[in-house]
Amino acid sequence: MEYVVGIDLGTTNTCVAIVEQGVPKVIPNKGGYRTTPSMVAMSESSKRLVGHLAKRQVVTNPANTIYAAKRLIGRKWNSTAGRTVAQTCPYTIVEGPHGDIRLKVREHVYSVPEISAFILAEMKMVAEQYLGGPVEKAVITVPAYFNDNQRQATKDAGRIAGLEVIRIINEPTAAALAYGFGKNLERKVAVYDLGGGTFDVSILDIGHGVFEVISTAGDTFLGGENFDLRVMQYLIETFEEETGVAIREDRMAMQRLKDAAEKARCELSNVRETVIDLPFLHTTPSGKVFHMHEALTAQQLEGLTEDLIDDTIKICARTLASASLDKKELDDVVLVGGMTRMPLVQRKVAEFFGIEPCKGVHPDEVVALGAAIQAAALVDNTPELLLLDVTPHSLGIMIVGGYFHRLIEQNTTIPTRAGHVFTTVRDNQTSVKILVLQGESDKAAENEMLGEFILSGLRRAPRGQVEVEVTFSISVDGIVSVSAKDLETGREQSITVTATSGLTEDELRDLVRQSQSYMIELRASEEIERRRQHAEKLVDTIRNLFPQVEDAMSGTRFGRDAMAKAEAVVQRAEQDLSRGDGKGLLDTIDSLDRTLGMFKNVMHKKSEAAHR
Ligand code: AMP
Repeated sequence: MEYVVGIDLGTTNTCVAIVEQGVPKVIPNKGGYRTTPSMVAMSESSKRLVGHLAKRQVVTNPANTIYAAKRLIGRKWNSTAGRTVAQTCPYTIVEGPHGDIRLKVREHVYSVPEISAFILAEMKMVAEQYLGGPVEKAVITVPAYFNDNQRQATKDAGRIAGLEVIRIINEPTAAALAYGFGKNLERKVAVYDLGGGTFDVSILDIGHGVFEVISTAGDTFLGGENFDLRVMQYLIETFEEETGVAIREDRMAMQRLKDAAEKARCELSNVRETVIDLPFLHTTPSGKVFHMHEALTAQQLEGLTEDLIDDTIKICARTLASASLDKKELDDVVLVGGMTRMPLVQRKVAEFFGIEPCKGVHPDEVVALGAAIQAAALVDNTPELLLLDVTPHSLGIMIVGGYFHRLIEQNTTIPTRAGHVFTTVRDNQTSVKILVLQGESDKAAENEMLGEFILSGLRRAPRGQVEVEVTFSISVDGIVSVSAKDLETGREQSITVTATSGLTEDELRDLVRQSQSYMIELRASEEIERRRQHAEKLVDTIRNLFPQVEDAMSGTRFGRDAMAKAEAVVQRAEQDLSRGDGKGLLDTIDSLDRTLGMFKNVMHKKSEAAHR
């Protein structure tokens, strides 16, 4: 059986879903939780901890716990986002070999896709345990406003995790899919998606199974994390004013503050006032102890964060304008992402669009459900479901003077392609360098550089005579590729892509191998643990039955021998268990099973005799 899942790889939480008998369902993890924290940590013994296990120890191990890696995926070392995260997070960010961002955890340096891969591998395991079979394919969602580098890095993460990423889809589009699935709707809707780290808004035209995105816009660095920072900032300043003590350098205190800020924020979605109580928050070098006890009202929280919500509303206005739609033409507004539980977000959205947002979808699960629907449709080749998405950014090249020449406009339906003819400017020129960028600025330097392509092996000729047509394509995943052809000879021209960030193919292959061996070791140690637990249970059961069985067989020579043999089996099992390497446990279990079988037999015969 081939299982294909949908995964919403979120900044804060990750959710996996599947379509079973036509019904999309969220798959709960071992602890019964329907979402798993997007957190990865390394314990002191270098054990990898993912999800709830990582979250549980974050306060005591902040420097080695990575959260919100999605804010860094596909970004460059010198990006504003990289700098902001470096200044505010308790873990260590270092520059990678390709101008990318890497994360130092204990003595090891990880790329960001690797960290995301650990989370995806965990979700793969969650799904495999639930489904009872291997899961090798997935549809993974990304914020609609993710650029090519971020999409490619997410796809790489899937590959490292041992998943074939059959499609990358946009989170708001996935949400719309789950919202409209099987309902035969004909509606224009806006999906407002404010999560832990990103904001997206998409306008869709839904009709007869076709989900067509008309326009999309967003901010890949605006979400709950920014709200948390505002609350933290306020608490730090108040604390400093009241005590005169600076705590910004105290990593553990900062982690506790972050947790408390988020918790308070969530509580204030339901109550008007809450208290942030953090005893023993900070101890000075001289041993003086400081506690925090600070009240925060919903009104104060709104004051601290209102401008962030206003920013999202401005983006909504922009996307409506690009869709050439009036708000009145919209039939529904769908709220997605945990942050949309904040009452002020709901009020501002309702006020802007002039409609009460729809409450029918689960903000934390709808994206994964949509991804699962798309996954099932792709595998089953469902003709009645069609997704037409758009590219969120314009694609172009740098031209003379450092200007940006657009080849594909933003909000163009994907897949799409555009050609551009390059010609040589020098006699006998054999190569041309092309810089490919994404963005909306007329200045190339202000846009996101995707890659440097070198067209090489051009035939020698006087300048201007060689004409090469370069085709820029954007796939359904929103990922860019480039191909080139000599117009005169019709020959395909070779292109070398110089990675400007992210991982090289060699690094990727290496990571895939490492990940495979890690999974093999993990499965083996889980199997040993299962056997250990089983053997321990058998030992307990046999030990408990000993007196009764001894009594049932008392006096007989056979009984004495049998009991001595049973005692020897149990003692050997206890020795095997105390060794802890799991060796020989299968034989041990076998002997214990046989002993227990014999005991049950004796007990059964005794009870039969008593009834006669
Ligand atoms: P998501 O990325 O969709 O999982 O959303 C996670 C974000 O939603 C985090 O920043 C959470 O703090 C935030 N969140 C979750 N529940 C609430 C709530 N009840 N009120 C306000 N924010 C919430």
